[in-house]
Amino acid sequence: MGNIMEKLELTAQSMYCKKIEELTPAELHYSLGKAVMGEIAGNWEASKIKHDSERRAYYFSAEFLMGRMMYNNLYCLGILEDVTKLLKKKGIDINVFEDIDDAALGNGGLGRLAACFLDSAATQEVPLDGYGIRYKYGLFKQLIENGYQVETADNWQRFEDPWCNRVEDEAVTVSFKGQTVKAVPYDMAVIGCKTTNINTLRLWQAEAVNDFDFTAFNNTEYNNAVQEKNDAENITKVLYPNDNKYEGKVLRLKQQYFFCSASLQDIMRRYKKKHGNDFSFFAKENTIQLNDTHPVSCVPELVRLLMNEGFNFDDAFEIARKTFNYTNHTVLGEALEKWPADLMTQVIPEIYHIICLIANKCQEELTAKGVHEDTKAKMRIIDGNVVHMARLATYASTYVNGVAELHTEILKADVLKEWYQVYPERFQNKTNGITQRRWLGLCNPELSALITEKVGSDAWLTDLSLLEKLNDSIDTRTITKFNNIKKKKKQQLADYIKKMDGYDVNPDSIYDIQVKRLHEYKRQLLNAFSIMTIYFRLKDKKLKNWTPTTFIFGAKAAPGYARAKAIIKYINEIAKLVNNDPETKDLLQVYFISNYNVSYAEKIVVAADLSEQTSTAGLEASGTGNMKFMLNGAPTLGTLDGANVEIAECAGIENEYIFGAKVEDIERMKKEGYHPKALYDANPEIKRVVDTLIDGTFDDGGAQGEGSFKELHDSLLKDSSWQKADNYFLIYDLPDYVDTKIRANTEYANRKEFGKKCLINIANAGKFSSDRTILQYAKEIWHTSYKK
Ligand SMILES: *Cc1c(COP(=O)(O)O)cnc(C)c1O
Repeated sequence: MGNIMEKLELTAQSMYCKKIEELTPAELHYSLGKAVMGEIAGNWEASKIKHDSERRAYYFSAEFLMGRMMYNNLYCLGILEDVTKLLKKKGIDINVFEDIDDAALGNGGLGRLAACFLDSAATQEVPLDGYGIRYKYGLFKQLIENGYQVETADNWQRFEDPWCNRVEDEAVTVSFKGQTVKAVPYDMAVIGCKTTNINTLRLWQAEAVNDFDFTAFNNTEYNNAVQEKNDAENITKVLYPNDNKYEGKVLRLKQQYFFCSASLQDIMRRYKKKHGNDFSFFAKENTIQLNDTHPVSCVPELVRLLMNEGFNFDDAFEIARKTFNYTNHTVLGEALEKWPADLMTQVIPEIYHIICLIANKCQEELTAKGVHEDTKAKMRIIDGNVVHMARLATYASTYVNGVAELHTEILKADVLKEWYQVYPERFQNKTNGITQRRWLGLCNPELSALITEKVGSDAWLTDLSLLEKLNDSIDTRTITKFNNIKKKKKQQLADYIKKMDGYDVNPDSIYDIQVKRLHEYKRQLLNAFSIMTIYFRLKDKKLKNWTPTTFIFGAKAAPGYARAKAIIKYINEIAKLVNNDPETKDLLQVYFISNYNVSYAEKIVVAADLSEQTSTAGLEASGTGNMKFMLNGAPTLGTLDGANVEIAECAGIENEYIFGAKVEDIERMKKEGYHPKALYDANPEIKRVVDTLIDGTFDDGGAQGEGSFKELHDSLLKDSSWQKADNYFLIYDLPDYVDTKIRANTEYANRKEFGKKCLINIANAGKFSSDRTILQYAKEIWHTSYKK
């Protein structure tokens, strides 16, 4: 400990010629980061040596949404409190690091899951390293201007990045048609909690192969060299801002192949150092988890690399199939990657050729297994001119998994039905989880202390199943303590929102919160409609005994997603109306906070009274936001979808607020017909609310009935050439949703009964630790070691 402060002092002196107390926040961040990196160097090296000697797993992911590193790393090292005190002695508030940007190298749930998995693997001593992309710019920063989302670049590296070591001498080259670039690894330490184990996240940065001497060039040479440099660096310049949506762009395909090829070359190099050219142990010593289909070009790439080592195609493919496992994250058609064959030919022709070989082998294998021709046609990896990445991944993997029980059942019954029939032994479920270190220990020290007191120790930090001990101590005193903690966290969030967004949130109101990416299937618009319904009832004096409620939204929309952006504007228009209406403003407040990210989430999930999880049943694969809220004691106001089902199972459905159509109901309506227009015509209250999109209540920037709200209105009531009316069943679910929301509001008034529900949620949240998930991967898929 004294050691860290000494190292900090030395770094400050040598880098900035300053004393600690003279450093700017950015300089202090860099110096302290480097001091921590120095402190852990020995343990990190020892962990690498240990992992080199055993079977190990790799997590391949195009996204790692790590969030802010400083507090988490100090926390996991067990020195956050001491460092806070020591800095305070120098007159420095540890909160200065709040000004340092998050590492936002991911979009949402999928990227955050990858980050939680790394944290859990390090803590549970699972030899798992991550491989991904070091984007120069992470997910855009969001501003809200006049109610509209405005995007700005996320230049997160402007503060320097003390957490990564550039490993120049392990750079490799990656070739595309007509272009070869250098891939330079940046290693980030993933620090376990209550262990000396440290894992590695290796992120690749694209650079020009040549270190140009620009002064030696004539004009043409100079221009060519600049072009080569820019073309190379462009590959890892930006993160694609889509969540749950496939975008078939050349640059995206290059990104994917770039990090897959570099990572596999890296694994091969390490392997060859041990075994030379004998690849018979490759699949015994290495297993690779594909986080969605984004890294699936690894499959043909590994085959190609092995064929370069002298293998024939069939033997190379057998090794690949033993090495890979695939996690599916979505059932949404628009999110399933389907690359045009000509685009692949244009960028990575050798890889496309190998995919053709794999596709043929697959069809032959299916024939040999006696699979019917019609079924075989549905399983083509290359169909027409399209490469189906989920099919390729499923065929080339040992295990395929969904991310919640319901989701896995839907994969087996629907999305991957044919594959499940032929290869049932491949399918597994691995319900997602979240790390309790960041999502309880670090972000809610007050609740953590209460839990530690009740559980008898802080062992829950590495074994969350211990929370069940809380079930025996939910008495009046504990409930009061919990309610007081919640109150404190609500005040803290109000202060933070004031600082970040300038809003005055009433800390004595109910906090009803929906934060997640903006997507039609997540149905933020349904929440907005329920608020308008309640607003009208309050205005009409039809709603009695309503406890004042603040509805908080946070969500980024993909910049090209017009409907999602229109929904943001609509929510902000509602906010303007209800927050300023003297008849309602003390009862109803609506706020859309800007730039929702991991650091904002850490302040939000701890302060929520209700967790909005409103996706159309069957469409949210798992959700992990739902788990963060549960762990901090907010009951779920949601549908029976994704992991909500398991949350309700664990805590008891009577301790959640469940509403709406179930998967079977949705399926029945799809089969027998669903007529939202008829429901709308028959129910004046629904009609009044939905028509606020077009009747002049709100301003959407367009002329009356022509702007973006009109398109939303049409999407709910009219079939289009590409989508049925109300594709996400908002109108069907609205009445039950409003009833359930009002019931929650009424029950909240009984502070003791409601507090009890909150504590029951916490006590039964043990299942949702990513430690549990990662240990299941280790035991049931990877067969690696783990902490005993
Ligand atoms: C947890 C998290 C998500 C995922 O939220 P869902 O509600 O599961 O979609 C998205 N973004 C951030 C910043 C998160 O922390």
